[in-house]
Amino acid sequence: MIKELEFILSPLSCLKGFGEKTIEIYKKLLSPKRLLDGNKELKIIDLLYHKPEKILFRKEVFDLTSVQDGELITVKVKVDNYEAPSHRSQPHRIRCFNDTGFITIIYFKTFPDFIPKNFVEGGWVVISGKAERFNNELQITHPDYVNNYDIPKFEQIYPLTTGLSNRVLRRSIQIALSKLSNLPEWLDNNFLFQHQWKSWKDSLLAMHNAKNDNELSNNSPYIERLAFDELLANQIALGLMREKLKNKSDKEILINKNKNLKEYFLNKLPFELTNDQTNVINEIENDIYSNKRMMRLLQGDVGSGKTVVAFLSMLPFIENKKQVAFMVPTSILATQHYEWIKNLCDNNSNINVAILTGKIKGKKREKILNDLKDGKIDILVGTHAIFQDKVEFNNLSYVIIDEQHRFGVSQRLTLIEKGNSVDTLIMTATPIPRTLSLTIYGDMDVSSIKEKPKNRKQIITSSLNKEKFGDLINHISAKLKDGEKIYWICPLIEEAENLPATPLFQRYEEFQKFFKKEEIGFIHGKLTEDEKDKIMEDFGNINGKVKILIATTVIEVGIDVPDATIIIIESPERFGLSQMHQLRGRVGRGSKQSYCVLFYEKPTQNLIKRMNILKDSCDGFFIAEEDLKLRGSGEVLGLKQSGFSEYLIADLSSHYNLLIEASKMARHIVKNKEYLNKNEIKILLEMFGYNDCLNEAILN
Ligand code: ADP
Ligand code: MG
Repeated sequence: MIKELEFILSPLSCLKGFGEKTIEIYKKLLSPKRLLDGNKELKIIDLLYHKPEKILFRKEVFDLTSVQDGELITVKVKVDNYEAPSHRSQPHRIRCFNDTGFITIIYFKTFPDFIPKNFVEGGWVVISGKAERFNNELQITHPDYVNNYDIPKFEQIYPLTTGLSNRVLRRSIQIALSKLSNLPEWLDNNFLFQHQWKSWKDSLLAMHNAKNDNELSNNSPYIERLAFDELLANQIALGLMREKLKNKSDKEILINKNKNLKEYFLNKLPFELTNDQTNVINEIENDIYSNKRMMRLLQGDVGSGKTVVAFLSMLPFIENKKQVAFMVPTSILATQHYEWIKNLCDNNSNINVAILTGKIKGKKREKILNDLKDGKIDILVGTHAIFQDKVEFNNLSYVIIDEQHRFGVSQRLTLIEKGNSVDTLIMTATPIPRTLSLTIYGDMDVSSIKEKPKNRKQIITSSLNKEKFGDLINHISAKLKDGEKIYWICPLIEEAENLPATPLFQRYEEFQKFFKKEEIGFIHGKLTEDEKDKIMEDFGNINGKVKILIATTVIEVGIDVPDATIIIIESPERFGLSQMHQLRGRVGRGSKQSYCVLFYEKPTQNLIKRMNILKDSCDGFFIAEEDLKLRGSGEVLGLKQSGFSEYLIADLSSHYNLLIEASKMARHIVKNKEYLNKNEIKILLEMFGYNDCLNEAILN
């Protein structure tokens, strides 16, 4: 490890107060973004890159008469008297005062000796909390601070998790910051000056000591600087990888050009391929049989039939006894793809298909890992669990990544690295504007599926005012009687402050008045993977009981239930156009007429415009472009809503320009070995965990 990075790359457990239990709590908070499998070690840098979400200002006051209702104050007062609760439901009341007036401190629950210890009659006490006025009496209920030495004037509020208070988190970050030394600067002085950016360390310090929300916004110079570092490191790593892939020509050529398996499956499929599907498979096969490594992006709108293309393109490898990995973003989707492939492969074809997700554990997992290593498994379908260190392939030669925008660059690359010289197919339903794809993927070959299977009827999209709730329920009931299935999409799980939308649980309660309870199911991101799989099975199976599935956008990616014919999207103002198009793509997958209902409350002009785009067009590419015009590029990529962003600070919906700049700079650096050999650049890359690609680039 580079000497300068020793501190920030040390395990978090090196800091005082970080025992095993504490680390587990921090993992819940910090790991989703930073750590791929949640098992790796948390480092000090993970703590340092945890960004505050807002700032609270605690006003230091003396004059109690000037305090407004609801104001957050810190004040020094004298204890007058303590009134113990006369009844269990009564609070403890402590009356305090200073020269300007009185204030009452209220506790509903405290530790036994807390009050006598802190509030001694006649003694001084410093308290901080939200002041309220009741009948002109000033009071603070459960102050945030009592007699602490370090009551902050500006308090940074961080995203938290159960078992961790803001005070403890904030203090641990401050402790880490106090031991931090600056790193040698990797950015050019002029460049820093142009942007009015400070050094890396000063920017981190400024972020954690921000005095107002503005300083935390995406265009604050500190946040921009930190975001740029991340983007630059990422772009350099990507550039190095790209170089490496280009230079590698040791691909093993597939000798057996037999197409028996392909013939077999083409006959077995219950449908004919569309022309586009056939063409795309040919394009892929050309690459596969050549001696050049394939890097291909397959774009195809929702429902255009990418899965079958993926499957057919695996067959040349299987004919040659090589292994294939099919990576998808969720375990529901993994299960679905796995079952579909397994069904198709039945016993006659001799193809061994396996599934690996994070929840497959113990003996079962061991067996899969062993079989994989021994080459007994031909096709491995799975989530990112596929690319943990322990997963070893025998001769991985082909990697397919579905719904790519859900994975980070480093995740994709790690999987590609597992094979010696693998061919890669990346599939996406979110069309990526050319400029963006160039920056993000570099030069990739692109295949597109533009036509939909012939048996499809256009999905009829309409908008409906929420006043017509009763009509909609009647309509749905009739459809349910005909054996059709329905998705009902809610933007929220639970009631949220300030948001007028109807949450999922409320609909679930309400629907029990109209439908049989066992026919209603719900699914959302807070369920465990097992729970999600179970409900999708109940909804997806022909014999499954659930007929109407209330869902958040967790069902947005890839799920295929051909009997589902109606999707209701509640509060369309809360979703992006591309996202709604993806959601709509959950229906219209069989031969029956399907419907999408945009169920709105307030028809603002903007909403009407957006709803019209969806009503008039079923073309994902067109919709994405319109979306791009109406919102930023980051949103179109689905990066923002997906919550799967691989960046800790950078946010492509507002740092797109920084990405372009970082990309330019990275190209320049990658081309020049003298830059790459610079200690500063090494530090930057190692800091974000990209050191492996650098080492290889320099050695090559
Ligand atoms: P996506 O491109 O969104 O991933 P899928 O691969 O899930 O689409 O395919 C959607 C549905 O269309 C599936 O039920 C699949 O079996 C079916 N399908 C795929 N290709 C064809 C075709 N050529 N004709 C009819 N149905 C097809
Ligand atoms: Mg799909």
